[in-house]
Amino acid sequence: MHAMVLNALRTPLVWTELPDRQPKPGEVRVKVGACGVCRTDLHVVDGKLPNPHVPIIPGHEIVGRIDALGAGVEGLSVGERVGIPWLGHTCGTCPYCRMKRENLCDQPVFTGFTRDGGFATAAIADARFCFPLGESGTDESLAPLLCAGLIGWRSLTMAGEAGKLGLYGFGAAAHILAQVARFQGRSVFAFTRPGDVAAQRFARSLGAEWAGGSDEMPPAKLDAAIIFAPQGGLVPLALRTVRKGGRVVCAGIHMSDIPAFPYALLWEERELLSVANLTRQDGLDFLLQVPAMGIVTRTTAYALRDANQALYDLRAGRFEGAAVLVL
Ligand SMILES: [Zn+2]
Ligand SMILES: [Zn+2]
Repeated sequence: MHAMVLNALRTPLVWTELPDRQPKPGEVRVKVGACGVCRTDLHVVDGKLPNPHVPIIPGHEIVGRIDALGAGVEGLSVGERVGIPWLGHTCGTCPYCRMKRENLCDQPVFTGFTRDGGFATAAIADARFCFPLGESGTDESLAPLLCAGLIGWRSLTMAGEAGKLGLYGFGAAAHILAQVARFQGRSVFAFTRPGDVAAQRFARSLGAEWAGGSDEMPPAKLDAAIIFAPQGGLVPLALRTVRKGGRVVCAGIHMSDIPAFPYALLWEERELLSVANLTRQDGLDFLLQVPAMGIVTRTTAYALRDANQALYDLRAGRFEGAAVLVL
């Protein structure tokens, strides 16, 4: 197999030939067809996440076909198309797993962070954490659903029954979630970097009722806002836009420090929450509804060998929607 390997933090990935791996009991091996490039991959490369593992193969939006089954795997077959998400394994016995909050597991394994991911021709995964994807849609179009879509979905659930929904940072996650929110009959208000008229136009093309800079006030008070951009400075700005009792959801794993802000922004029972990871149930709920929602992902394709360019372009905001490595 071949992979783009992160050998040391804050260095470029290196094209590497590795011995083929065999799935252990309970695991599957997947021939990768496409793997999305997520902002969290940048945070992995940059060493922004706690307890980093190197060397590691990044990538946690994997779409591929099973080409080998480990002993004891049930319900999946060779040739079947599956998705492999960020949540790679949970312990099943810690208090969080037992209270059905496996996204908070004390001993989790994360794809592309603490176990090798999908910037590779093949990947090994715990079979119980793979999602069958069926046959509709290309590998490239489905890949961004595996994290941008799933984390977006969980964030939307956390936002509650918000009819007027703000989205801060209109990248891979927001461009999917805007379509989900519109399908559900919500009004979307998109916030981009000040002056980023291209991103604002992109948001309106996906059904946003209003799009403007993150320094602007929307035309109406919002019921909830979700922050996808990793800038802590957006938290007080978002709190300013939500009504009494409204919610602000921080969707990223890493965010820069939140500046001090007046308590009045939080008062009147506004709520500030974060989203961590996903549960398998989130994935099943979301993927079940994807066909009906008619989500169209905007992708920019890169060859596996060009993963560094994809990461660079993501950092620089050089494309709309999501970058996907296509094999
Ligand atoms: Zn991700
Ligand atoms: Zn656990």
